[in-house]
This record gives sequence, structure tokens and C-alpha cells, in this order.
Amino acid sequence: MKTLILHTCCGPDLTYSYIFFSKNFNVISVFANDNIDTYEEFEKRYEQVLKVSRHFNFQSVKCPYENQIFLESVRGFEKEPERGERCKICHNLNLRKVARFCKENGFEYFSTTLTISPHKDARLINTIGTKIAKEFGLNFIEADLKKSDGFLQSVKLSKELNLYRQNYCGCIFSRGKSG
Ligand code: SF4
Repeated sequence: MKTLILHTCCGPDLTYSYIFFSKNFNVISVFANDNIDTYEEFEKRYEQVLKVSRHFNFQSVKCPYENQIFLESVRGFEKEPERGERCKICHNLNLRKVARFCKENGFEYFSTTLTISPHKDARLINTIGTKIAKEFGLNFIEADLKKSDGFLQSVKLSKELNLYRQNYCGCIFSRGKSG
């Protein structure tokens, strides 16, 4: 079976995403989220990823936390709504980090858990992923994980595994907003 590097935003979103992709791939989760507002939150979310990877018995990797790069990249777009310009930059940054991981470690296929969220634009995420893949000479596996009750299944699985589910998307600008 081919290996898929799965960009992972959080444990709850990883649950169903893992089940979905592991039908066709040997999945390795890569936690690359420079958008997350504090180091404490970054670590807390990664702990949930570990719970999922231990439960299903697959490998997970944590990339270094580089929030300053995110903040510099989105300067001028702080007030954008979710799904706006700031989010495009955010997805681009994190998926690029995962593509670099693939190149450095000899992996060919990657995708992301991001499309499971009803707040996220799957078409936009797939377009960004595909563009990055072309640039790096990789393959991005497109999906819309929220389809076929993917999101509902992730909520159910997260409850079963007793996972912390954050109440904001991740960046400081999304604090106090759902996501
Ligand atoms: S709202 Fe979410 S997707 Fe958008 S920039 Fe903030 S963390 Fe990234």
C-alpha cells in the first residue's frame, strides 16, 4: 500500500479522516499548524492527535511550532472573515510545510484533514493542495471529508475517544468565533 502524508489540524478532525484515507493508504499524520495562537494550545491539540494515532495504531509526526511566520504572512489580513484571504494564506503555509516534509523524507502523496470542517471551503483547499503538489513534484489527494456524514462521524468518534474539541479555528484572529 502507498503511504499518504496527512496534514492534520487537530485530533477530532483526524478521527474520520484517518478512517477515510486508510482504506487506500498507509497513513502518517503530520501536525503542521503555525496558525495556532499559543504554544500551549498547539501542544494541547497535538496531545489529541496522539490519542487518535495510538487508538488506531499509526504514526504521527509533529512539525516545529513557528507562529511568527504565520503572523508575518497574514499581516494586513487580520480582519478577514473565515474562508477569506487570511485563510488562503494559512492553508498555503501549512500545506507547503507538509509538502517540504514529503520532499525531505521521500514521500509522494499528501492530503489534509481540513476539508472535514463545515466551516472550510473544500474546493479552495483542494485547489491550493494541488497547486503546491505540482510545484513540489508530488501528488495531492483531493477529498471533501465532510461529505457522507464525515463531520458527524468525527464528532461521534471524538466523543468516544474523549478528545478535547477546540471552540475556535486556531489563529488569534479566530478566537471567540466558531470554527
Ligand atoms: S480562521 Fe482558521 S483557517 Fe483562517 S487563518 Fe485563522 S486559523 Fe487559519
